[in-house]
Amino acid sequence: MVKSSVLGYPRIGADREWKKALESFWSGKLEEEEFHSQLQEIRLNHLRKQQEKGIDFIPVNDFSYYDHILDTAAMFGIIPKRFAYEGGIVPLSVYYGVARGTKGAAASEMTKWFNTNYHYIVPELAGVSPVLNENKPLTAYREAKEKLGIEGKPVIVGPLTFLKLSKGYNISETDAWLDRLLPLYVQILQELAEEGVQWVQIDEPILVTKLSEADVQRLKTIYEAFAASVPNLNIMLQTYFESVENYRDIVALPVKGIGLDFVHGFSGNMQSIKALGFPADKVLGAGVIDGRGIWKASLRGKLELLEELAEFVTVERLIVQSSCSLLHVPVTAARETKLTSELKDSLAFAEEKLDELVLLTKAVSSNDVGIIDELEKCEVAIQALQLSEERNRSSIQHAVAAVSSQQPNRSQPFAERHAAQQAKWQLPLFPTTTIGSFPQSAEVRKARQLWRKDEWSNKQYTDFIREQIDIWIKLQEEIGLDVLVHGEFERTDMVEFFGEKLAGFAFTQNGWVQSYGSRCVKPPVIFGDVAFTGEMTVKETKYAQSLTQHPVKGMLTGPITIMNWSFVREDIPREQIAYQLAYALRQEVEALEQAGIGMIQVDEPAVREGLPLKEEEQADYLAWAVKAFRIATCTVQETTQIHTHMCYCEFHDMIDSIEAMDADVISIETSRSHGELIHSFELNTYKLGIGLGVYDIHSPRIPSVEEMTGMIERALRVLDPKLFWINPDCGLKTRGFEETVASLRNMVGATKIARNNH
Ligand code: GLN
Ligand code: ZN
Repeated sequence: MVKSSVLGYPRIGADREWKKALESFWSGKLEEEEFHSQLQEIRLNHLRKQQEKGIDFIPVNDFSYYDHILDTAAMFGIIPKRFAYEGGIVPLSVYYGVARGTKGAAASEMTKWFNTNYHYIVPELAGVSPVLNENKPLTAYREAKEKLGIEGKPVIVGPLTFLKLSKGYNISETDAWLDRLLPLYVQILQELAEEGVQWVQIDEPILVTKLSEADVQRLKTIYEAFAASVPNLNIMLQTYFESVENYRDIVALPVKGIGLDFVHGFSGNMQSIKALGFPADKVLGAGVIDGRGIWKASLRGKLELLEELAEFVTVERLIVQSSCSLLHVPVTAARETKLTSELKDSLAFAEEKLDELVLLTKAVSSNDVGIIDELEKCEVAIQALQLSEERNRSSIQHAVAAVSSQQPNRSQPFAERHAAQQAKWQLPLFPTTTIGSFPQSAEVRKARQLWRKDEWSNKQYTDFIREQIDIWIKLQEEIGLDVLVHGEFERTDMVEFFGEKLAGFAFTQNGWVQSYGSRCVKPPVIFGDVAFTGEMTVKETKYAQSLTQHPVKGMLTGPITIMNWSFVREDIPREQIAYQLAYALRQEVEALEQAGIGMIQVDEPAVREGLPLKEEEQADYLAWAVKAFRIATCTVQETTQIHTHMCYCEFHDMIDSIEAMDADVISIETSRSHGELIHSFELNTYKLGIGLGVYDIHSPRIPSVEEMTGMIERALRVLDPKLFWINPDCGLKTRGFEETVASLRNMVGATKIARNNH
């Protein structure tokens, strides 16, 4: 019989009860004992759900108190010295200290889990000697068995992936580190084998990236060591998010099963199997149900795919599974009550994916008409959405096709625009500005709530927003900034705000997914053709401009950022979605220009995160991402100044693409990689206007004038003074009033000194 398997389940719970428990515990409202029991309840519920649905291989040890990479590090006692950890099981205070920082010690770095929006805590290996202080997979296995009679499948982050994602060691020490970790892994597996565990899932997503010869060798060392020490334990070597790079080597490893992603790594993995076959002594974990997307699968198509795979692996050796952990999708679509039935019927979140897995598994091994009928149901839903008006806005499709077939160029090259803009705006050397948002005080949030609950009329709310704009325009003038902003008080979120005003978007009530720690996000759903339906930002911007002689920058979120921070439809390429968004934004850009706004910023902080994992696909992505930005911004007059802003990430290896966006001015976050970024500008001689953030807005600390003068001078060593702008490194919406004003005053002070020196 074919079996079904899940690679991991969302932790947060249908009501985000996991998040609430964590936050209550942190704030001292929940005692530790009660906290453990609440989390256990949540964990068991998730196992029960999978059991009831009939999943054969149910993952255990995928649950976490924060993050599974941090759990792995903690299990090995890999805790940075600054947390004064003294060995043994890591206490919760230390565990959360590493994740969130303590009074005396900064948190460990957090970074994106491959190309997802999940962030893990980066293990710091420097100065620690790993030991196994607790066999967590074993504890989780026992719990599932004792409480629910589940024969769980422990999930463990594999040694190669763990090492590659860790920091605090030199590449030349990799083998030494492997020597230290390997015996601990072996011990875990031996104890699991002694306990009678049947299957273990060892996650090695690093195998979808390019591996060096040395890493391939390490892989062999690791899995040969496992085979030698636990010959009877079935190991599923699990990969996901893309196709594997070294298929030949990987399928030759002495493990019982290989798990491959046939959704996000479909073409590569399929090619490898077809060209090289699949070993007869192994089980294939066929990841056919998308663990990252929110859409129902075409089960007929999936069945065909499984049948195709069965030409290379006999059916008994196939496992039908999710493409990756379901951590990346919301918990259940069943409770969405506000979506159209067409849309709702087309969604499959984690719970619905369990049904898909079970049904598909049954269908592979039976010809039962009932099952085949059941299978066809999803096709009806998929078809209905496909035929919906929202997916067939032919005027949009034609317009976007026309626009994207042309070269999206400004009317003049930068040098000429720059001269025209200088003549028009007469800005001083080193113009000062901010990134867009000002503090969203409790008062601002309260006002929005009242308005959303209809306790405030539109007029009351609009007046309130205007008052905030009044206050901040005056303040910006008084502080002495050159280019002002309206402050974004009317926006909760830079994507949601635009999504709510554009056609083609939907918003779920409960579609939350974990982003990092207890932080969850609820991405909008782009399900139809995106269309501009009316001005989105003109009123506030125009109002702000009416209050001052200084230029006020209009403020928009760019097409790629809107797309990368949403769940998107899968019936058309992402490139097309980006162009639709760009075309809609172009209309807003033009509306702003028409309304007399002469500087317009289109933020693209999320360009970098959409970068494909496969190097060979990156150039193509960057090319259309750049094109989308240009489509949105290219039609303005030469005197209209287009700004953009980028943050969150390392940009030093994509400066060419940033330059190709052809924005008149870019402001860029530098707080985390200032040195490197400056260095790459040295090599590149960036030729457009640029503001390197001169202070880090992520901390409440008020930077001094001297400090910022230092930053400015350093940047001016490599950048052309005539093109240099001075600004903080990101939006100020999370900061307090006092610190914001004080910091900006110092920034203007530092600018004056710089102007005198140059
Ligand atoms: N304009 C936005 C703001 O100032 C930019 C936010 C961002 O870069 N993430 O908040
Ligand atoms: Zn930013």
